Amino acid sequence: MTRQNRSSASDGGFGAGLTNAAESPERPSGESPLRAPPDAAEASPEAEPVLSTGPLARTGRPGASVSLHEPRQPGRCAPSGDVPAQPLLELDALWIQVAGTVCNLTCTHCFVTCGPQEERHAMMSSAEVARRVAEALGMGVREFYLTGGEPFLNPELEAIVEDTLALAPVTVLTNGTLFTERRVRWLAALTRSARHSLELRVSLDATEPNAHDAFRGIGAWARTMAGLRALEAEGLAPIVTFTRAPGVDEATLAAAAAAALRAEGLSGARLKLLPLFALGRELTRLGEPLAPRSLAGLPAGAFDPERLQCGRSRAVTSRGVYVCPLLVDEAAGRMGDSLAEAARPFPLVHDACVTCWATGMSCAND
Ligand code: SF4
Ligand code: SF4
Repeated sequence: MTRQNRSSASDGGFGAGLTNAAESPERPSGESPLRAPPDAAEASPEAEPVLSTGPLARTGRPGASVSLHEPRQPGRCAPSGDVPAQPLLELDALWIQVAGTVCNLTCTHCFVTCGPQEERHAMMSSAEVARRVAEALGMGVREFYLTGGEPFLNPELEAIVEDTLALAPVTVLTNGTLFTERRVRWLAALTRSARHSLELRVSLDATEPNAHDAFRGIGAWARTMAGLRALEAEGLAPIVTFTRAPGVDEATLAAAAAAALRAEGLSGARLKLLPLFALGRELTRLGEPLAPRSLAGLPAGAFDPERLQCGRSRAVTSRGVYVCPLLVDEAAGRMGDSLAEAARPFPLVHDACVTCWATGMSCAND
């Protein structure tokens, strides 16, 4: 088993006729927009069919329709007065939302409200990504996370991965439903030949197929499992992330997750657990207002600046630089147009900051 080189770990189709927001004011003039593959929610952007055991329904919950354009609820922010400010200690990692908010799924808990018709953040071209990578390397960034939306919908993803991997370790976050035989072979060959490490992160939301499909759509579990088996057959060991709902014991979930993968004939995956965030579509799924939470009043001595990922990373989308990949739809999360502008402390005003603080989570691989 070839373990994907350790680098130092949202994953994330298109609607017919979607474009990459040609009129976006953030896109440099003269650059052509990326075009979405013609068959968004069902098809691979490649001619080759995706690895699949059946069709993938576009609704997130069996029997329930999920609108692609649910009303957005405002993020829940605390008064910024006395919340701790997270300094940027070093810029080690950059998240690049290469697929924007475009995804072949419409998961009911998606914290960035992605879907086939969601173009709030546009898909990024290889040229745009290369500029961000160069900017980041100039500021000391040592690894890159490619996310979305679903990165494998980006028609330039392979060039983006190869170009970036020539310079630094790369992790691609995916929902695992769009692997094809050719693409898996490409990933395996690249993993073996690259100078830097290439990691794959595949996301699951439950340890049981129906529960997972209730979040992601009927058929999602089967399709992702087919992808994971194909990766393993090529000697790849992806990181599989499982969603941990509030109150679920970490050790219990880890054991159940390992057992679920073994039952699917998978033995090489590594596990990572991630909490749910009350952001984006998850706010709609919860269905009722939550009690306000805030880090305001956290005693200065209790604040550990090493605890949070926003002390060492930033996220870029087609719309600018954000404090982290969680807050790309929150006005408070945007820090500027350049990484240099975003190299400043961030007041931990959002409810999601409370989740990060309480769980100690990091979106990174470790
Ligand atoms: S959570 Fe679901 S809808 Fe959101 S990016 Fe991931 S796969 Fe796509
Ligand atoms: S949501 Fe988490 S990672 Fe993002 S700014 Fe708040 S604490 Fe930092």
